[in-house]
Amino acid sequence: MTDRNYLQQLRTPTKEQPLKILMSACLTGITCGYDGTANGEYPSALKLLKYDTVKIVTFCPEEFSFGSPREMCDIHGGTGLDVLNGKAKVMTDSGIDWSEGMIKASEKMLEIAKKEQIDLAVMMDVSAACGSQVIYDGNRFAENKKYQIGAGVSAAQLIRNGFKVISQRDFASLEILYSKIDPTHTINPSAKDHHEIDWYKEYFKI
Ligand code: SF4
Repeated sequence: MTDRNYLQQLRTPTKEQPLKILMSACLTGITCGYDGTANGEYPSALKLLKYDTVKIVTFCPEEFSFGSPREMCDIHGGTGLDVLNGKAKVMTDSGIDWSEGMIKASEKMLEIAKKEQIDLAVMMDVSAACGSQVIYDGNRFAENKKYQIGAGVSAAQLIRNGFKVISQRDFASLEILYSKIDPTHTINPSAKDHHEIDWYKEYFKI
């Protein structure tokens, strides 16, 4: 769940003092997805690239550790936080344990977040590295694939170190963010964050 109070309190950025946002590289069009694509286009996130009052820093944790293209991976036995705590594993489709590389990548992402003194991270949801609201519970290609509430390894690393993370599907939060970046932006009151949509409520019985 995103911290809307935090977003409400963000300052209005200027060219001299831009808002610093760390983004999943694929959300900016960089072809670092497991299959060598950018995982599709998400206008809600791409719009952030248009402002000269926003400094975007990009990083792809999986590419950092495993290159592109690469195998698909998912978290087995828990969430990204559990992986960081040694209680769950990141496994590839073919059964290779990628936990160590994923943790190293999360530490690199944290290092970047600290060095750049980011205000916020906007990350690709559902990824085993970058997911922040929903991730797969085990192999996503399994016949009985399952989702769970939780963050991927890199998002969890940022969150547990005090950084705020929203996903490209947190439309209500993005509306607040855009109103901070662009004072002429009118907030769409019907926009919803990922945890507020019908699918989420029905799937997780919330
Ligand atoms: S690890 Fe993150 S940045 Fe890299 S392709 Fe997956 S979602 Fe995108």
